[in-house]
Amino acid sequence: MTCPVSETIADIRARVARSRADGLSVALVPTMGALHAGHESLIRAARERCGFVVVSIFVNPTQFGPGEDYASYPRSPEADLEACARGGAAVAFMPQPADMYDPPSLTVVSVPSLSGTLCGARRPGHFEGVCTVVAKLFNIVQPDLAFFGAKDYQQATILRRMAGDLNFPLEVVVCPTVRETDGLAMSSRNRYLSGGQRAQALALHESLLLAGRLAGQGERSARRIVQAMREHLARRAPDGQIDYIQIVDPDSLADVDTIDRPVQVLLAVRLGRARLIDNMRVDAARPDR
Ligand code: AMP
Repeated sequence: MTCPVSETIADIRARVARSRADGLSVALVPTMGALHAGHESLIRAARERCGFVVVSIFVNPTQFGPGEDYASYPRSPEADLEACARGGAAVAFMPQPADMYDPPSLTVVSVPSLSGTLCGARRPGHFEGVCTVVAKLFNIVQPDLAFFGAKDYQQATILRRMAGDLNFPLEVVVCPTVRETDGLAMSSRNRYLSGGQRAQALALHESLLLAGRLAGQGERSARRIVQAMREHLARRAPDGQIDYIQIVDPDSLADVDTIDRPVQVLLAVRLGRARLIDNMRVDAARPDR
């Protein structure tokens, strides 16, 4: 089972136009390929709501910084097309970098007040690259709905804001994080992990669960919860290098000191070649969410 491929902007526009003429609503699921069950859940969610699902597969060079893994980012086009078909996609849009960036985009889309913290603070230019390519994809495909994963919480928050601020006529849908059975958030970069690193990577999710438990038991200090998470990671992932652990307001992404409302707990940890991220909503009143 495979999925039709569209390789040019003109071709995907024509396919979308035909589907619209047939009365179908259009969904876009932007990805960088190396698809796993997390991506497939987005494709399925899109198929449930729209008749014509476009999955874009594009390793976007402009969102990688110098020294990051653009050249070695996992690429598995055949398996990706099978995953697209399984999920119910109508077409995979797989443009070449030259098709997207020749001539180079002099226009940059950014949401500075949401991009200066968390991953954005550690990856200069990353979210400008993400916003610009997603804005281009929105204009190329012109979907009714666009699907993103809560796994990349800051990205989803920024893109929802971008879509609203720029009046894109579409709905941004954010789907829950899909995890391995032991709790590790699925990620294309998990394939960088050795066996030992894979075992240590569980500490990310465990530390989020710990944060939820502590808040549920009445701990209100974000600082003390972050400290407990750091200690857990030091014990359970001794090879991990913590990039950040932060507790923030779910919308503004501003740091929170006192947990007296729902908050988002986010962390990024480097383990060998992989930089892993994860996050969880923690509501002191409802600790098990
Ligand atoms: P990527 O290919 O890593 O750029 O991801 C493409 C989309 O899939 C983004 O919206 C991600 O948030 C989403 N995604 C990645 N991993 C997961 C996961 N484990 N669960 C749900 N969505 C995910």
